[in-house]
Amino acid sequence: MRAMVFEAVGQPLRLLERPVPRAGPGQLLLKVRACGVCRTDLHLLDGEVSIEHPPRILGHQIVGIAEPEGRRVGVPWLGWTCGECEYCRSERENLCPRARFTGRDIDGGMAQYTVADERYCFAIPDDYPDAQAAPLLCAGLIGYRALRMCGTARRLGLYGFGAAAHILTQVAQAQDREVYAFTREGDSAAQAFARELGAAWAGHSGQAPPHELDAAIVFAPDGSLVVQALQAVAPGGTVVCGGIHMSDIPTFPYSSLWGERVVRSVANLTRRDAEEFLALAPRVPVRTHMSSYPLEAAGQALEDLRAGRFTGAAVIVP
Ligand SMILES: [Zn+2]
Ligand SMILES: [Zn+2]
Repeated sequence: MRAMVFEAVGQPLRLLERPVPRAGPGQLLLKVRACGVCRTDLHLLDGEVSIEHPPRILGHQIVGIAEPEGRRVGVPWLGWTCGECEYCRSERENLCPRARFTGRDIDGGMAQYTVADERYCFAIPDDYPDAQAAPLLCAGLIGYRALRMCGTARRLGLYGFGAAAHILTQVAQAQDREVYAFTREGDSAAQAFARELGAAWAGHSGQAPPHELDAAIVFAPDGSLVVQALQAVAPGGTVVCGGIHMSDIPTFPYSSLWGERVVRSVANLTRRDAEEFLALAPRVPVRTHMSSYPLEAAGQALEDLRAGRFTGAAVIVP
């Protein structure tokens, strides 16, 4: 099979011929139909999140067909958990210290085939074509977990308007929340896209929103946004950090945190998040906007993501 392989930090992914993997006990062999690209893939490429045992096939938003039975499933970032630790036994498997992650510790979906732990393969709602379903599996799932951490917040700020934010804007509106979209300065395309999706307001991250926010989610990997988001939320508000990696958070006055404001991160996902979100998405209904790339253009998709050259999500179709 053909696969895009990570070999070392700072080197582009390489197109290689690999043997088709074989499913072990409890695993499914999947013919990959689509695989979403995620900012985490850039962090892996750049070494900000490390791959312990390269070479590795990246990609953790996989839509595939199980062979030979023909069932369509999706595979997310969390690819294996121990099932025995305190976290696994208390519905917090997202924090399992022995967890293995798809496209980091386990070969992922930027290939024609992959194998996945059946416990972490989820049925994809019928309404979605393969490529449209792929962004639901990380942007959607982890975005949904971050939204849950915002409780009943009505005015919701989203810092970084990429794949996750474009999905969450739709979910938030279905829940009668108002979305305030913050982009990089001058990114009028992303601001227009946010308004098109129904955001109540869109501007750049240095701007104050027209109302105090009840909660904010920071998707962009820039620690200074945490401080800006804290200054935009009302007393009692929460700022959720939705990414796996972020630059350092600058120091800020205690008064920005005072008033029972909360800063927290959201890590990975649980199977419950996946089941809930994949049931919710077609009811909203969430429509994903994506640009598709052939397998050998995975590196280009990643560089386009870095440069902000598309709105919504990017998906590899091998
Ligand atoms: Zn991801
Ligand atoms: Zn565990």
